[in-house]
Amino acid sequence: MSSEDLRALSEADRWLERLAGQRATLLERVELARVEGDLRERLGALRAAEAALEPLSRAYDEASTASSRLRERRDRLASRLEVSRDARESAALAGELDQVRVALGAAEDRELEALVEVEPAAETAAALRREAQPLAARRAELIASVAALESSLDEEVAAQRLVRDAAASRVEGALRARYEAALARAGGAGAAEVLEGRCGDCRLALSPLDLDRWRHAPEGEYPECPSCGRLLLP
Ligand SMILES: [Zn+2]
Repeated sequence: MSSEDLRALSEADRWLERLAGQRATLLERVELARVEGDLRERLGALRAAEAALEPLSRAYDEASTASSRLRERRDRLASRLEVSRDARESAALAGELDQVRVALGAAEDRELEALVEVEPAAETAAALRREAQPLAARRAELIASVAALESSLDEEVAAQRLVRDAAASRVEGALRARYEAALARAGGAGAAEVLEGRCGDCRLALSPLDLDRWRHAPEGEYPECPSCGRLLLP
């Protein structure tokens, strides 16, 4: 067993940490959350717009049905009047036709008024639906990319775990236990390089005494960083 095995184990752990970090901070997932929040807001607005539209369009339908009934009645009366050869019947038909025409005029006014109200409300709902469409498409894209990225990262993690396990199996028992304890305490990796007199991980500047202890450590012995507790690699 050499310090290279410990270094390999520590590097494998760093890779695993990096992969976990990448998986946790996928930009696509951040965008997905934003798009979903945006969509939820728009769907809320759309529901409100549709709720406002509903009674207006019912009123319009009723007004429109009423005027088309009157129109049919007017046409029927007009055709009967045209073929009527009886003076009294003709007079009665003409009287009724006048009434129906007046009623139709009023019904058509109501229909127009209802249409004037229904149109902007319908346009609002349609605009909200139109705006939601590209967002819904983007959401679907993002869900697919997040899933693809996660599964490729998961594959990398699985492969890296095998590398890690192989490296760990080459580190002897007591040292490995110290390494795992330092890893559990400090996170990331259980060992660190010394760079320019500092712990390469927590950046603590080692005291001259600690540096001396590190420099002259017998082979296979690893002093710990006084701050983060990671094993200091030669
Ligand atoms: Zn440290």
